Amino acid sequence: MSLGSKDKSNRQLANRSNREGPLTNRFESRDGSVVIDVAESAGYCWGVERAIDLAVESAGDTSRPTVTHGELIHNSYTVDKLRQEYDITHVSNHSEAPDGSALVIRAHGVPPAVKREAAAQGLTVIDGTCPLVDIIHRKAVQLVKEGYEVFVIGQASHPEIIGILASVEEAGGKGTVLETDEDVANVPPLKKAGIVIQSTLIAEKAGKIAAQLVPKSREVKVVNTICHVTTERQEEADHLAATADVILVVGSQHSSNSRKLKEVCGKDGAPTYQIEGLADLDMGWFVGKRHVGIHAGASTPREIIEQIVAHLQEHLVQGAA
Ligand code: SF4
Repeated sequence: MSLGSKDKSNRQLANRSNREGPLTNRFESRDGSVVIDVAESAGYCWGVERAIDLAVESAGDTSRPTVTHGELIHNSYTVDKLRQEYDITHVSNHSEAPDGSALVIRAHGVPPAVKREAAAQGLTVIDGTCPLVDIIHRKAVQLVKEGYEVFVIGQASHPEIIGILASVEEAGGKGTVLETDEDVANVPPLKKAGIVIQSTLIAEKAGKIAAQLVPKSREVKVVNTICHVTTERQEEADHLAATADVILVVGSQHSSNSRKLKEVCGKDGAPTYQIEGLADLDMGWFVGKRHVGIHAGASTPREIIEQIVAHLQEHLVQGAA
């Protein structure tokens, strides 16, 4: 299996900072009757890949167990493989980690206190927090130092948001999550509003929420912390929405970025299905379709996408679908 950066195509993605080349990779069914466009960046993002690499590297030290703080990624295939091939399991809280174990922090991070407490407990903390998520923590703390009340636009229950709010509070600031229009409506008038945004949010949605804060505050500072991988994925999703006549989004139902991709891919009316893998595929979805689009969340392994493409190439032939 390919886990982490051992996958060459993913390493190429990790090294890319700006878009170069096409939005999709094109395949055809074996009789050439159906086009299959796969979003160029579908699959692991480099932040997730890095966390997996760190976990696998840690497991190489067999003198102590390696556990992850929660499931390392929202993908049961990878989580199962990590357990079976590297004996990497997860705990829901650092206090449950076996004595002397290595604790791997996930890409979307944790409150700073979790790392301190884990170290004090005698655990070896392997920090898989994506560097881009670390930047959001630092930007939010900077806003506190500049005297802003901090607002984090994102999903209140998401671990990334919980971690950022904890950093704001540790810095002595006040942090509020804005997830819905109602959340913004409940904000009282204030002097200085500083905004950061969840790394995987849709820019348009975040912008609409941020704009609603303008009449409430004499000064509003927005730090755009949506990560460039998210922006590229959404461009590709826009492209698929406009061109494909049926779209698959490969990713766990628990993955918030997969759910957001599904929303974008389906916005122009093409039937869009979110699946975890080949077993969820219904060939009835492709009847009469000649242009299939495929996208995938940041926690989807490339090999799952490759299996689906290979299956469609083989079975989507004229007369059979
Ligand atoms: S989506 Fe962006 S911020 Fe989140 S883990 Fe991946 S690279 Fe990092």
